[in-house]
Amino acid sequence: MPLKGRVFSGMRPTGRLHLGNYLGALQNWVELQKDYQCIYCAVDVHALTTMKPQEKAELKPNIREMVIDWLAAGVDPQQSIVFVQSHVPEVMVLNTLLSMITPLGWLLRVPTFKEKVRQMEETEETVSYGLVGYPVLMTADIILYKADTVPVGEDQLPHLELAREIVRRFNFWYGETFPEPQGKLTEAPLILGLDGKQKMSKSLDNHVELAASPDETRKRTLTAFTDPQRLRRSDPGRPWVCNVYTLHKYFNPAGAQVVYDECTTARRGCVDCKGHLAQAVNTYLAPFRECRREYEANPSLVDAVLADGAHRAAAIARETIREVKERMGLL
Ligand code: SF4
Repeated sequence: MPLKGRVFSGMRPTGRLHLGNYLGALQNWVELQKDYQCIYCAVDVHALTTMKPQEKAELKPNIREMVIDWLAAGVDPQQSIVFVQSHVPEVMVLNTLLSMITPLGWLLRVPTFKEKVRQMEETEETVSYGLVGYPVLMTADIILYKADTVPVGEDQLPHLELAREIVRRFNFWYGETFPEPQGKLTEAPLILGLDGKQKMSKSLDNHVELAASPDETRKRTLTAFTDPQRLRRSDPGRPWVCNVYTLHKYFNPAGAQVVYDECTTARRGCVDCKGHLAQAVNTYLAPFRECRREYEANPSLVDAVLADGAHRAAAIARETIREVKERMGLL
């Protein structure tokens, strides 16, 4: 069957991924490979917009751990292009050229910009130029490879709309060059962390790593927050407010109805229920973890994947830069 188009998607190198990253994005990446030519990128330059200089030593190991998770989950480097953003420096060239046509006002009105400035305890005076220009670099990432499809969550739609505005302006000023990237809204579920309240996140330490050992998985799962109104074992539970039940639906779909029935009739205690969930997660992830161990034992395999990915990405990138320079009168 012919492919539907070219997908670009990137992830910040945060190290080992967790269950929320898997259900929210990575699983979708694997699926997209069936219908699209996919370009998957560890966006290390983006990481610099919020990274402290003393964290720089973590960047390289974080990229490696994250890419191993991608590969172990089923991202196929033969079929998809898997690489590190800075290994194809043409993206920095395109970023500079696009910044010449992007009004500052467009960047300042991006809703997440002010929020990020606040989170970083900066002001609009002290915030870096790179953080303001983050959407331009994101646009360069996508269009350098002439990707026409970008998997996005609702919250990323404003960024994509800005990318589309930049593309429209470029095409209008310099002639039809880039496809306007379309957002492919993914029904990425919002996966809550073990606290049952906030999104699963490494920084909140409410996560379970995909690469965790079965024992670690069990220990962490047993700390999960459940139905707060269930004070005694004999109280019927409310699985619909319980994140443990939600996770059962993903990792133990065949047994989720039993969990529901036994919970609502108090035939199941929460400790047992969390133990069952840990077992289900361990069973579900066993092939992933085995594959991961192989990559960990053979670091040269990951190096080869990234070198090949950068090589294939650079071939597309060089051609785009040549065309852009010509369009902009630089040749
Ligand atoms: Fe949640 Fe399971 Fe306890 Fe029910 S029995 S409240 S689903 S942990």
